[in-house]
Amino acid sequence: LPRPLPHNEPVLSYASGSPERAALKARLASMAKEQPDVPHVVAGNELRDGAPYEVRAPHDHSLLLATCHDGGAAIATKAIDAALAAAPGWAATPFEERLRIFTRAAELLAGPWRPVLNAATMLGQSKTAYQAEIDAACELIDFLRFNVAYASRLVEQPISPPGISNTLELRPLEGFILAITPFNFTAIAGNLPSACALMGNVVVWKPAENQSLAAYHTMRLFEAAGLPPGVINVVYGNGATVAGTCLARPELAGVHFTGSTTVFQSIWRTVGENVARYRTYPRLVGETGGKDFVFAHTSAEIEALAVGLVRGAFEYQGQKCSAASRAYIPRSIWPKVRDLAVDHIKQIRMGDVTDFRNLMGAVINERAWTRLSGWRERLAGDPKAKILTGDGWSREKGWFAGPTLVELSDPAHPLLAEELFGPVLGVYVYDDSTESGVDAALDLVDRTSPYGLTGAVFARDRAAVAKAGARLRQAAGNFYVNDKPTGAVVGQQPFGGSRASGTNDKAGSAYNLLRWASPRVIKETF
Ligand code: GLU
Repeated sequence: LPRPLPHNEPVLSYASGSPERAALKARLASMAKEQPDVPHVVAGNELRDGAPYEVRAPHDHSLLLATCHDGGAAIATKAIDAALAAAPGWAATPFEERLRIFTRAAELLAGPWRPVLNAATMLGQSKTAYQAEIDAACELIDFLRFNVAYASRLVEQPISPPGISNTLELRPLEGFILAITPFNFTAIAGNLPSACALMGNVVVWKPAENQSLAAYHTMRLFEAAGLPPGVINVVYGNGATVAGTCLARPELAGVHFTGSTTVFQSIWRTVGENVARYRTYPRLVGETGGKDFVFAHTSAEIEALAVGLVRGAFEYQGQKCSAASRAYIPRSIWPKVRDLAVDHIKQIRMGDVTDFRNLMGAVINERAWTRLSGWRERLAGDPKAKILTGDGWSREKGWFAGPTLVELSDPAHPLLAEELFGPVLGVYVYDDSTESGVDAALDLVDRTSPYGLTGAVFARDRAAVAKAGARLRQAAGNFYVNDKPTGAVVGQQPFGGSRASGTNDKAGSAYNLLRWASPRVIKETF
């Protein structure tokens, strides 16, 4: 029976003195001491093969969180075999039972597991309590609950004339699915394997190195909810080796991916090279990055715009595919917008995320920090770039990158085209004295970057909103009017984009779940 759509999980405030803050603080303190030796999970067994590597808190190098192992081709092969062995049993498990398992996972996460995943996400990925809560708790709970509801409504049965019965059944894909998940969202990491499993598929899951601690607890949550052994198998370590091993197998039935454009393109190429070897055409579903815009019209509400820019660009250190990273602001309002934005940025506290007063933590690792500080140095010596804010860069205790606002005089500047994945917002100030100036700015928004993920338009003038909406129709899969381009809510704004941003199969929606089903039609005559 089709299930009613659920409500979104309410976001807890973690206000000082609240019971949720006390529970989270207690869990943060104990988790900082646990330092698990994280196992691969293969057919329900814990394996610790492969060279060990340390996982440390991005905001505190001295804090060892866990040890993981680089599973390599050997563990990846075991994981594939375990998945294939579990496939017949899982495919035969009644749909209702699969739904029950993931519903139970959602209920456990809404209850006792909430502080566990939140603490792991704060420590391992350097998210503030609020950023962890909207990700590891609310968004993952919503993914699980909404996927269950959507999965129960997917099938529209064909028509059956007299004497004939036509039915359509959704089979799992034949083979296994490789889920490759990013560091920046615990919810996405949990959703990619579980959405496939919900639809009856078996999965090899490769989490990002820097998300290992939360991935470890997420897998334990799925097991606690009753997920049978072998349905989801987790392999840690070098992604290229695990992916290479999986893509070489004829039983590869799909890839559910969130990560960089380059990696997804290389997966696509390898699948293309191997295409004749596969038993079935693998489904490739990927969300791969963005260069998300804020376009302001002369009629924009200045305070809302400044807040949208600052929150959109700098929350979670700008490490969201959806982060505002280029803005087009009319010359007539720029001085006011700039002064307000600079004021807000100056009030941002950055530091250890277990200090609840901080609004920003550290960027994810040394590689990210080095790449970002290289950009900062180049921008500092660039006559076309004026750096307006950006204090707080340091690498001693953690990988801290200050919120950096840059005004650019060249609309073709690389900062307006390339994804940085950090707290750097480039602004181009456009001439809004004529309508053709506005049209030219809309053209820049559409053409400057190859991506098409999210974007925001700020305008009070409805005609300007309509014009931008039409002109930028292909520029963003998630298009926001008078709001920041981050923070899509499951069930409200299904998330994903096209162009270089991915296959736009909208995570947490029926569009996505249908990619993990292979329909069979049965005609019976009487
Ligand atoms: N869904 C997230 C948002 O709307 C972004 C996901 C991502 O960074 O991949 O902010």
